[in-house]
Amino acid sequence: MSAFVQNLMSELKAKNPAQPEFHQAVEEVVESLSLVLERHPEYRSAKILERIVEPERVLMFRVPWLDDQGEVQVNRGFRIEMNSAIGPYKGGLRFHPSVNLGILKFLAFEQVFKNSLTTLPMGGGKGGSDFDPKGKSDNEVMRFCQSFMTELQRHIGPDTDVPAGDIGVGGREIGFMFGQYKRLRNEFTGVLTGKGLNWGGSLIRPEATGYGSVYFAAEMLKTRGETLDGKTCLVSGSGNVAQYTVEKILQLGGKVVTLSDSAGYIYDEEGITREKLDFVMELKNLRRGRIKEYAEEFKSAVYTPTDANNDFNPLWNHKADCAFPSATQNEVNGKDAQNLLNNGVYVVSEGANMPTNLDGVKIFLDKGILYGPGKAANAGGVAVSGLEMSQNSQRLPWTREEVDNRLHNIMKSIHNTCVTTAERFNTPGNYVNGANIGGFLKVADAMLDQGVV
Ligand code: NDP
Repeated sequence: MSAFVQNLMSELKAKNPAQPEFHQAVEEVVESLSLVLERHPEYRSAKILERIVEPERVLMFRVPWLDDQGEVQVNRGFRIEMNSAIGPYKGGLRFHPSVNLGILKFLAFEQVFKNSLTTLPMGGGKGGSDFDPKGKSDNEVMRFCQSFMTELQRHIGPDTDVPAGDIGVGGREIGFMFGQYKRLRNEFTGVLTGKGLNWGGSLIRPEATGYGSVYFAAEMLKTRGETLDGKTCLVSGSGNVAQYTVEKILQLGGKVVTLSDSAGYIYDEEGITREKLDFVMELKNLRRGRIKEYAEEFKSAVYTPTDANNDFNPLWNHKADCAFPSATQNEVNGKDAQNLLNNGVYVVSEGANMPTNLDGVKIFLDKGILYGPGKAANAGGVAVSGLEMSQNSQRLPWTREEVDNRLHNIMKSIHNTCVTTAERFNTPGNYVNGANIGGFLKVADAMLDQGVV
C-alpha cells in the first residue's frame, strides 16, 4: 500500500468509524487507483480521491408507520447521494434489517464506478431502510412504503435522483412507492426504475442483473475460447438476481446445482431444471417462502441449514466450474475462495455487490482465475434501469429483443473496458483493476471539468 493510500485510509476510518463495509469498498478501489495516480498527478492536486469518498449528500430520516395491530412502528430511512458528476444519482433501495449508514455508503460508492462503466450518463446513489419486509402483510409493506416515500419525494426526481430496487425491494415495493410519489407530486414521471410494465417499466429489467452477470461470465470464458455449455455452476441467493442468473445459465447450456437464502442452501446434484426454477420463482416471488421447501419438493436435493458457528459457507464447497455469488456482501471469505479453487472453480461472476471479502479477492487474483467483480459483472441491472429512464423520457417502450440486445452489448462493452484498462495499467487479466480504473477515469475527468464542487 502506498503512503498516500495509507493516509487516505486512516483518515477515512477516523472520519467514518464503525463503517467496515465502506472502508472495505474504498480500500479495494484506492489500491487499484494508486496505479492511476502515478500517471495522473492532476487527480492528486485536485483532490479527486478525497472528494470521491465523501458523499455529496446524506439524507437520514424517520419512517413511522402503523402495523396491522394498529401499533406504531418506527424505522430509519436513508438516501446517499454519492456523486452526480456524470448524471443524476442512480442506485437501488434496500429494505433489510441489517441496513445502516456504512452499508449504504459502501453500496453508493461502488455504484458510482459501476454506473460509469455502463457507458450511460448516471451518477451514483443508494438508499433504503432497516425495515424487514419478511413476515409483513401486503398492507403493512404498503403503509411502510408510503411513509418512506412521503419523506424521500422531497429529495428525488427524474433529473435529480432515480432510485430502483435492491434486496427486499422488488416490483411490489416499487409499485407502492411510485403510487405515493405520484399522489404527492401530481406527476407521472420516471422517478423510479423497476416499474411495472403497464406503468412505465421496461421489459428485461427484472432479468437484467442476472442475465448481465451470466453474459459477463460468457465474455470472460470467451477469452479462453470456452463457453458455458456443459459447465457446472454454483449460485447463491434465490431472489431476483439468483433466479435470472439460473434462467440464463440454463439457456446457455450450463447446469446449476445450488441456491440459498439466509436460513440455508440446497444442493441438487441432478441440476435445477426449468420446471424446478419455476417452482423457486413461485415460492419466492408469490408465496414468499423459504428455500428449504425446494428439498421437500424435489428429492434429488439436500438442504443444509445455515450454521452461524461455521467460518466458511458450505455452498462454496462443491465440485463446479463457475460460481455466481448472488445473495449479499461478504458471503465469500478467504476460506470459501480457497474451497472454490480446490473444487475446480475457475470462473467467478459476482451478481451481488461485494460478495467476496478482501482476502477472497486476493486469492482469486493471485491464482489468475476469471474473476468478474460485482461492479462490472452485475452492472446489467442498473444499465437496464438507465434504458428504462431513456424509454420514459421518450415515452416509448422498446421491445424485449431491443432491450436484451442493448443489455448484451453493454455487458460486452464493460468486459472490453475491464480487459483493455487492465492491460493499459500493466495488470492483464485483472478485472478488479480494470473495473475500478475504467469506472474511475470518466468520473474523475468530469469532476476536473466541473471545478471544485
Ligand atoms: P432479493 O431480495 O431479491 O434476494 C436476496 C437474496 O439473498 C435472498 O435469497 C436472500 O435470502 C439472500 N440474502 C440476503 N441477505 C442475506 C444474508 N445476510 N445472508 C444470506 N443470504 C442473504 O435481492 P436481489 O436479488 O435484488 O439482490 C441480491 C444481491 O444483488 C445484493 O447484493 C444486491 O445489492 C445485488 N444487486 C442487485 C441488483 C438488482 O437489480 N436487484 C443490481 C445489482 C446488484 P432471504 O430471503 O433469506 O433474506
